[in-house]
Amino acid sequence: MIDPNILVPLKNLLGPSGYRDDPEEIAPYLTDWRGRYTGTAAAMLSPATTAEVVEIVKFASAHRIALVPQGGNSGMVAGATPDQSGDSLLLSMRRMNKFVGIDAASGDATVEAGLILQTLHEAVASDGYRFPLTLGGKGSATIGGLISTNAGGTQVLRHGTMRSLVLGIEAVLPDGSIYDGMASLEKDNRGYDLKQLLIGGEGTIGIVTKAVLRTVPALIDRCVVWAGVQSPSDAHALLQYLHRHAGHAMEGFEILPQSAMNAVLRHVPGTRAPLSGDHPWHALIELVQDDAAQATPADLAQRLMTGAIEAGLVDDATLSANEAQAEAFWKIRDSISEAERAEGPALQHDISVPVADMARFIEVESPQIEARFPGTCVVAFGHLGDGNIHYHVKAPQGMEAAVWYGEYAETISAHVYDRVAAYRGSLSAEHGIGMAKLAEFARLADPARLTAVRAIKTALDPLNIMNPGKLVPLA
Ligand SMILES: Cc1cc2nc3c(=O)[nH]c(=O)nc-3n(C[C@H](O)[C@H](O)[C@H](O)COP(=O)(O)OP(=O)(O)OC[C@H]3O[C@@H](n4cnc5c(N)ncnc54)[C@H](O)[C@@H]3O)c2cc1C
Repeated sequence: MIDPNILVPLKNLLGPSGYRDDPEEIAPYLTDWRGRYTGTAAAMLSPATTAEVVEIVKFASAHRIALVPQGGNSGMVAGATPDQSGDSLLLSMRRMNKFVGIDAASGDATVEAGLILQTLHEAVASDGYRFPLTLGGKGSATIGGLISTNAGGTQVLRHGTMRSLVLGIEAVLPDGSIYDGMASLEKDNRGYDLKQLLIGGEGTIGIVTKAVLRTVPALIDRCVVWAGVQSPSDAHALLQYLHRHAGHAMEGFEILPQSAMNAVLRHVPGTRAPLSGDHPWHALIELVQDDAAQATPADLAQRLMTGAIEAGLVDDATLSANEAQAEAFWKIRDSISEAERAEGPALQHDISVPVADMARFIEVESPQIEARFPGTCVVAFGHLGDGNIHYHVKAPQGMEAAVWYGEYAETISAHVYDRVAAYRGSLSAEHGIGMAKLAEFARLADPARLTAVRAIKTALDPLNIMNPGKLVPLA
């Protein structure tokens, strides 16, 4: 445990709004979003400036104290949760939440790391721009957290993950130096790219304090299509058809089974099924227009869905008639995690395999898992267009959460990840490794990758003060 007396200089530096050590006050920040990990911290530090972050890091380095960076604490792999030793300090970036400004000519937006994603969306919209990354946790996820997990979301199909949207980064490195990579260069070939190491770095090699983000022109119009399909294979055939005929107008392509829809309708007030009957699977497709010369999304959607129904790819489809309906369709998709959580214990896997193989993965592997672990039920949903599915294995009805997690979690998750590896896939498509996936990452990663990950960590953070116990497996 850290002796509270040595923390006095930090208390003086940060003042009452930036330094909290009352256990009750900091308790809500010590458990991860999924509620599976709870840690302890000697104090929660909330700096307001980069200069304060520098002082904190220098202090931590001098005293060999671990720092656990945290943004909105909406991450899915317990990356922002301290361990139970009490030997660390929680470094909350929420007070560094300014939208600094937008360059009128380029549309590049400069922000502090604690800015919330939804606030960024609103800020750039008022200047006629759009930040084209969104996800269900947009009301709490911060830019620093999104960068540090290389977050994806529902528009990756067209605009990529955070990796392709971050033009510049400012970060405080483990020795207290400031890495100023804020020039938004389209090209920069000075060897290793520290910016790209920090993206997806999960706070293990530096604290992101500011960023320059790419924006795109605001949408003129959009149409969200809800389609009933027979199987993931049919959904994949529909995806290919749309790639051929919709081009860049298609921004998102998501799937969900009827059981996920039922869970949402049961648990999330105000949701309504878009189609009149049940369908084994559903696809949610976003078509957009950001250039006046393009076809309107509604016309395009009408034409494409008529063709898809004639080709036997789709059983039934409906188009959003207005913005409120488009949002209502997305709300169903965005509420699946919440609804599944209310259904009972489940093991969540955020996996990717090559796009062309994902339908086969779901159709072949899910029945085998349900047969091998009787009473379980697989719910696979999400970003089929990116080959990334949230693959939940639900506990048998009535099973106690403690028994499920204690006795079954390891074996079932290991089975899922072994099968993912057999398809040359990834055990983490967009959530990262954190604490939750560390052991499986160590078990399945190829030795060359592990050696490189450890070497990078040791080179940049030799004292291991930056988020230890996350992302980097012990040698
Ligand atoms: C309903 C819901 C839906 C979601 N959907 C998606 C989705 O579709 N796609 C997706 O990718 N994710 C999704 N997420 C997960 C989550 O929103 C992302 O992982 C997000 O990037 C986390 O941001 P945060 O600010 O909450 O980070 P936190 O959870 O606070 O932290 C995440 C990691 O980043 C580190 N970190 C945070 N801030 C900094 C910083 N300034 N400098 C250095 N390290 C830092 C932390 O130490 C931790 O390792 C979803 C979450 C929810 C609740």
